[in-house]
Order: sequence, then structure tokens, then C-alpha cells
Amino acid sequence: MERFTFEDMRKIDRKTLGKEVPLELFRAIRLIGMREGLPLEGRGTTASIGRKIGESLPVSTLEDLLDHFAALQIGLPRIVYRDDKLIRIVVEDCFCKGLPLMEGKKVCDLEGAILEGALGRIMERKVSVRETKCNVSGDEHCEYEVRIY
Ligand SMILES: [Zn+2]
Repeated sequence: MERFTFEDMRKIDRKTLGKEVPLELFRAIRLIGMREGLPLEGRGTTASIGRKIGESLPVSTLEDLLDHFAALQIGLPRIVYRDDKLIRIVVEDCFCKGLPLMEGKKVCDLEGAILEGALGRIMERKVSVRETKCNVSGDEHCEYEVRIY
């Protein structure tokens, strides 16, 4: 299979519309297309897609990854806890901020899977990322728990 790399994604040559697309398009792909168009609200597929994107990111450290996460305007991540087996990452200004509240719903699983794919590759360990807080469920920010095995 001929593949695109993440570097290819940066090759943009649009004369008039440039390199940005509005956040509502990203949200529509994520929260209408993927959640409604795929089985189980897209859960398994979303995890595969996110991990694949994460593995393709040109990053080599956790700090580098978090810089990329911010540069891609997914949200502004910061580490609030870290030891050998666990990292907690808070995300402010997440792409989901401002959406209507839905009790018990967390919608930033793809973004967590991106972290999972990238961290697994960087650390050469099995890593699992779980979304523990989300703006959509009424939390004060989005938050991920990273477990390192
Ligand atoms: Zn979020």
C-alpha cells in the first residue's frame, strides 16, 4: 500500500483557502460522522484511527508530543502528575469546549488514542490512555490518565 506520512499532510498548496479549516468541520467529522456513522459510536475504530495518527507524529519525547498537540490546536495539554507507571494530562481549551453538556459523555477518545499511539512508540512500552474528564460531561477541563506497562 502506498502511504501518506504525517509530513505529507503539511504539504499544502491551496492558493485561496490556505491551510486552515474551521473547528466545526473537525467537530463534525469527529462527533457526527465518526460517532453516528460507525458502530458502537465509533469506539473501536476511533481508537485505531487515533493510535495510527499518534504513531505517525514526528515526535520523540513526551514534551515534544504535547507541543505538537497544542500546535495542532487540539487543546493545551499540561502534565499534572507523573511517575514511572502513571501520567495525568489535563487539556485546557480542548476542541470540545463550548459544546452542549451531555451527562456522562466523554467525547475526546480519539485525541487520547493519538497520545496513546505516540507515547507507545516514544517509550517503546505498552501504554494505555483513558479519558477521565471531559468538558462535555460538565468537568472543568478534559483529562487523560496514561498507564505505562
Ligand atoms: Zn475534550
